[in-house]
Amino acid sequence: MIFVLVRFLLCAMAAFGVLSQPAQAQAIAVERECHAEARLDESWDQVAADPARWNCGRTDWTHTAQTVLIRFILGDGENRLLPQSITTHTGHFDRIDVGLVSRDGSIVWASHWPQDLRHLGTGPYMALPLAGVTAETAEIAVRVVRPWNKTMLSEMKLDPHPDGTGWPLPMIVSMAAICGMLLVPLLVNTAFYSVLPERYVIWHLVMVAAMLVQAGVATGFIHLLGAQDIAWEWQLSNMAFATMGSAALMFAANFIEPGLLPRRMTRAAGWLAGAIWTTGVLSCIRLEMVRPWSSGAMYLAMGLAIAMLCIIMIWAQLRGSKAVWFQIYGWSPLLVIGAWRVAAYLVPSFHPTEAIVVYQLSLAFEVLVTAIGIISRFVDVRQERDEATARALELEGMAGRDPLTGLRNRRSIERRFEDLFLAGFRTMAVIDLDNFKAVNDTHGHATGDVVLRAAASALAEDRDTRAIRMGGEEFLLLLRGPDAAARAERCRRAISSRIASEVEGLDRIVTASMGLVEHDTKGKLRIDFATLYARCDQLLYEAKRRGRNCTMREKVTGFQPPLAPAEVA
Ligand code: GH3
Ligand code: MG
Ligand code: MG
Repeated sequence: MIFVLVRFLLCAMAAFGVLSQPAQAQAIAVERECHAEARLDESWDQVAADPARWNCGRTDWTHTAQTVLIRFILGDGENRLLPQSITTHTGHFDRIDVGLVSRDGSIVWASHWPQDLRHLGTGPYMALPLAGVTAETAEIAVRVVRPWNKTMLSEMKLDPHPDGTGWPLPMIVSMAAICGMLLVPLLVNTAFYSVLPERYVIWHLVMVAAMLVQAGVATGFIHLLGAQDIAWEWQLSNMAFATMGSAALMFAANFIEPGLLPRRMTRAAGWLAGAIWTTGVLSCIRLEMVRPWSSGAMYLAMGLAIAMLCIIMIWAQLRGSKAVWFQIYGWSPLLVIGAWRVAAYLVPSFHPTEAIVVYQLSLAFEVLVTAIGIISRFVDVRQERDEATARALELEGMAGRDPLTGLRNRRSIERRFEDLFLAGFRTMAVIDLDNFKAVNDTHGHATGDVVLRAAASALAEDRDTRAIRMGGEEFLLLLRGPDAAARAERCRRAISSRIASEVEGLDRIVTASMGLVEHDTKGKLRIDFATLYARCDQLLYEAKRRGRNCTMREKVTGFQPPLAPAEVA
């Protein structure tokens, strides 16, 4: 299965790789792109005059300085494409100044505030207008005041379209499909929680919901729901990112079969999840003292979450967890991409990137695999539950049976008597073997047991008959139907023949006496077990007194006094 999943991912990544190229339809010829850090009180000219301060590679981005300056030195050449806008990854900032530097060195500046920026509906980008670029423009100067993350600096590009160029259509469709894939587990989980009320289902639900919000922000699709303020979007994204990380940890810790993870590890995962979430909340505070470290702290927290997830998975796998395999398959691509993103963000010499396609794809993949894991766990839990129920029923059945004869015992019938009575079992017969003590005395206890088993086999149960061993050599029949008394009588007589045929070496015919009460109350008269049994016992005693091997019976009709007992020979 792992090969199928990995191949699926590789093929999908290859397919999407083509689409994940930069947004521009046509590239602007930029000869060089350099960036520098500066204090707020430093002017562009001051920094521009010092070549040592400029980094003209695409690495070592930082956003911790008060301002970051970026210069796009335009290439020469006939018919070159002129930039019409600047697009970059969305992010929060105080102000962006854009200067058009002419060949003679003069600069025309224009300032932009977050509320002036346009979101592209297709992709996580924002566009800055770039009016007035001519063939005389040698350089575009950008000064970002208090940027809140690195990606909005490192992803900044000149765009030939005045409104910025977003993703091409296939990319949009693919991303929409990925977001759609996230919806499936959301619905499945909600449906499953009602039948599998486990904590991990809730955590998975929270994780997927947060992923969906994050995907909405990361793809820019959230703007389809209405224009959002950049600051608000950035807070939403941070909170979704933090919620996703902490819920993923809680899900991982809870999804492993109980008892496999040490308490300390589960608790550590809980603390880390809390810390990640707190970092998310703190990073949303719009204070200058928070700005330089907030996004780095988020990535660091994610790095720790990835490490913790790896520890949990390795630990559970070594201890034979079955559930962990779904996490290993599901998480692996995301963990690799996540770790790479974290490293790319935190290591200065890397170029920070969103790796949006592979990231979203592995998110969707993870969610689908873990959702399958939840379904599989549901099947397991149901199977376990069914087996436990079957075992309980079996035990209950065993507890309700007499071990010697296999007939029901007194306790089981007393408990169910009321239901049986209502279901029509209104004829009770108490049968006692005659002179059984003599059988024991003559042939031994073991033969006595065989006799008891033979007697029990004569009392066959069917839809309308319940047979009970009350104790010793006394049996009870509960019967329903118009011929109940006659059937009971046939049973009593069958005892003798059954014993004679099944027990070898007996020197006598073992007979039985019976006391029987029939009720003809059509369900109106209620009677309890003890009363009915006592009456049957009296009749049995009477049968014994009259010489044994006979039945004494009576019929109770409505509220009339019982008829005089009738003897059946
Ligand atoms: P009666 O006709 O008046 O019923 O006489 P009885 O001998 O059948 O009655 P009594 O109550 O004197 O004796 C019942 C005997 O049944 C006594 C006891 O040892 C025997 N018994 C009770 N339970 C078992 C059992 O599980 N196995 C065997 N082999 N004997 C049992
Ligand atoms: Mg007896
Ligand atoms: Mg007895």
